Amino acid sequence: MEFIPYALPMIGKEEIAEVVDTLESGWLTTGKKTKDFETQFADYIGAEFALAVNSATAGLHLALEALGVGPGDKVITTVHTFTATAEVIRYLGADPVFVDIEGDSFNIDVDEVESAIEAHENVKVIIPVHYAGQAANIDRLMGIAKKHGIKILEDAAHALPATHNSKKVGTMGDITVFSFYANKTITTGEGGMIVTNNAEYRDRMSCMRLHGISRDVFDRFTSKKPSWHYNVVAPGYKYNLTDIASSIGMHQLKKADILKARREAIAQAYNEGFAGLPLKTPYLVNPEDVHSWHLYVVQLDLDSLTISRDRFIELMAESGIGTSVHYIPLHRHPYWKENYKLDARCFPKSEYAYNRIVSLPNYPKMSDEQVERVIKTVRSILVENMKGG
Ligand SMILES: *Cc1c(COP(=O)(O)O)cnc(C)c1O
Repeated sequence: MEFIPYALPMIGKEEIAEVVDTLESGWLTTGKKTKDFETQFADYIGAEFALAVNSATAGLHLALEALGVGPGDKVITTVHTFTATAEVIRYLGADPVFVDIEGDSFNIDVDEVESAIEAHENVKVIIPVHYAGQAANIDRLMGIAKKHGIKILEDAAHALPATHNSKKVGTMGDITVFSFYANKTITTGEGGMIVTNNAEYRDRMSCMRLHGISRDVFDRFTSKKPSWHYNVVAPGYKYNLTDIASSIGMHQLKKADILKARREAIAQAYNEGFAGLPLKTPYLVNPEDVHSWHLYVVQLDLDSLTISRDRFIELMAESGIGTSVHYIPLHRHPYWKENYKLDARCFPKSEYAYNRIVSLPNYPKMSDEQVERVIKTVRSILVENMKGG
C-alpha cells in the first residue's frame, strides 16, 4: 500500500532550471536573484519593502529587534503556535505574555489580548499568528495596538496568500513575516520574507540581516565604490537568503495562487466527504476572507468516539496516511511551562483543541485518488469507533 505523506513540496522544471542557472552563474550567495525575488514578493503582496531571510524565525527576530524590543519588554502572543513565534522574544531578553485562542479559528483571542495589555506594563509588541492560513482579527488588533502605542508583528508563516476584510496579509501590521520552510505554502527549502511599509524598520532589518554592515554584500562587490570598504554599525546577524534559494522562491511565488486553489479544492472535498461524521471541519469565520489552507485541521468529537485523538493518528498511520498535530501548545512544553509558570487551566480553549485536533494531508501534489483515500480512511476509522456502534 502506497504511503501518503503528511506534506510534500511541489517543485517544477522552472525551479530546477533556475537553480542550475544560478549554480552555473558563479554567484551563489545573496545577489541579483534575491533582489528580484524581493521586488516580486513586495509587488505580489502590495507592500513597500520585502527583505529575504534564511528563515521566518530569523525574520521574526530581526523584526522584533527593529521594533526596539529588549530586556524588560513584554510581547503578547498565543500559546497555540510553533515555539519559533515565542523564542525570538527570548533572543532579545524580553518576555512573552501568553494568551489563549478563539475556539472557532484557533487564532489569538483579542479580548484576552486587551486584558493582557491592562495587566502588564511595557507591552511593546503583539504577535498574532494566522493559524492554518486564516487571518486573525487584525483590524481589531490594530485598533487596540494603536490606542496603546503597541506595534503588531504578524507571524504569517501559514498565510501566503490570505486576506482579511479584502486586505492582503502583509499589508496590515507594522511588520509581517512569511516562511518558506519545506512544508509551507511556497518553499525555498529553508527561507522567509519580511514585509513592511516602514522605511526605518526596513533599513534597520536590512543592516542587521548581514552583520550590521551598512551596505549589503552585493552592493559591496558591484558598486563603483572601492569593494573592500564597509562600515559595521552594530553587532548584526547572518540571516541573508542565498540566490540558490531565491531561484526556487521566484518560481514558487508565481505559482502561489494556483497552489492555493488546489489546497482549497482539497479542503472543499474533505468538508463534503466528512459530512455526518463525529468531527468538526475547519471553516472561515469571515466567509469573504481568503484562507491559504496551509493546514486542514479537524477536531474529533471525543464524546461520540471510543478512541482518543492519539489512537486515531495511529490508526491513520496503520492505514498508510501521515497526519500531524498543530500544535502541542507552548504551555505544555517544559521550557515555557517552567520558566513562565504556565498553567494549562489558563488556556482552556487551546487545551480543548489540543486534545481533539488532527492535521490531514493537504498539498497540491496530492492526486484526487489520494484525497479520496484519505476521506474513505477517516470515514471508516470513525464509523468503526463510534460509541454505541
Ligand atoms: C514554520 C513556522 C515558523 C518558523 O518558520 P521557519 O521558516 O521554519 O523559521 C514560525 N511560526 C509558525 C507559526 C510556523 O508555522
